[in-house]
Amino acid sequence: MHLCRVLIELQQFRKDAIQQLIPLYDQGEATAIIDILIEHFYLIKPHQLLYLHKVLSEKEVDHMQHLLSKLRDGVPLQYLLGEAHFGPYKLLVNEHVLIPRPETYELVEWIINDNLQSLPLRIIDIGTGSGCIAISLAKEHISATVSALDVSHLALDIAQQNAKRYGVSIKWLHGDFTHSTFSESLDTYDVIVSNPPYIKQSEEASIHENVVKHEPHVALFVPDEDALLFYKLIATFGLTHLHKGGSIYVEINQDLANETAAVFTEMGYENVSLRKDLNGHWRMIKANKPTAS
Ligand code: SAM
Ligand code: GLN
Repeated sequence: MHLCRVLIELQQFRKDAIQQLIPLYDQGEATAIIDILIEHFYLIKPHQLLYLHKVLSEKEVDHMQHLLSKLRDGVPLQYLLGEAHFGPYKLLVNEHVLIPRPETYELVEWIINDNLQSLPLRIIDIGTGSGCIAISLAKEHISATVSALDVSHLALDIAQQNAKRYGVSIKWLHGDFTHSTFSESLDTYDVIVSNPPYIKQSEEASIHENVVKHEPHVALFVPDEDALLFYKLIATFGLTHLHKGGSIYVEINQDLANETAAVFTEMGYENVSLRKDLNGHWRMIKANKPTAS
């Protein structure tokens, strides 16, 4: 006997799907996620659902149910869509790269606003992930030479695809920045930028489950006993790998703002400034190369 399935209107699917996500997200977030999903796959905006009465085929129902089950497992929407917004850009992402965050674009804007007059710049992005910082800077500073490094081959692969998507040329470097033989072999730069891993292992419990379960841990976590590890290495690196007048820009853990700033001041950096992000959290630091070194 041929079983005939009940056809589902997309509008009904939307209602049910939002309810199913409520345990994981609040109503507003759940609604936004489902609406983006529907718009991505059907090019239909929420208000259009009311009069379009789109009915899903069996295949479409299966596909949407599959995506919904992934969302219920906490897979971030951006991984399901395979792309994420970063400022004016839409970048490819997968589970091997951190989903670029809006506050990281604020760090990029700080650099753009500071350095517009001082072309050509030599820039390095340490821990590039999706390539979001390096690509935005290369797009903005046409005559800049941008290098980007990561310990993850799989991340570099995505970053390279993103650079191609935006037609920018970047020097890719694969290596572990915590290994001095690698970091010392690098060039000298005018700008060092980094959004390194900065979440303490003990903070894991307070981070949204979908981040912890699905984003790469190598991108996120640092040992509790050496939470500022990357900032210390970056500050040390800057002493020998920054040109005169050069600067460091880093994204930081909001709970370690003063301690992170102190890493730079103690190494002799000048004009060490802290900035908040749009959510009012201490999120970034700029430090100028010590004139004495
Ligand atoms: N720059 C991207 C962004 O802002 O979205 C990614 C930032 S993510 C917080 C940190 C990145 O540093 C990850 O891509 C990770 O693979 C890389 N990373 C972690 N440890 C590293 C190491 N020892 N050497 C080089 N890169 C490292
Ligand atoms: N801001 C990211 C988060 O909250 C963490 C990024 C990082 O560790 N550099 O998940």
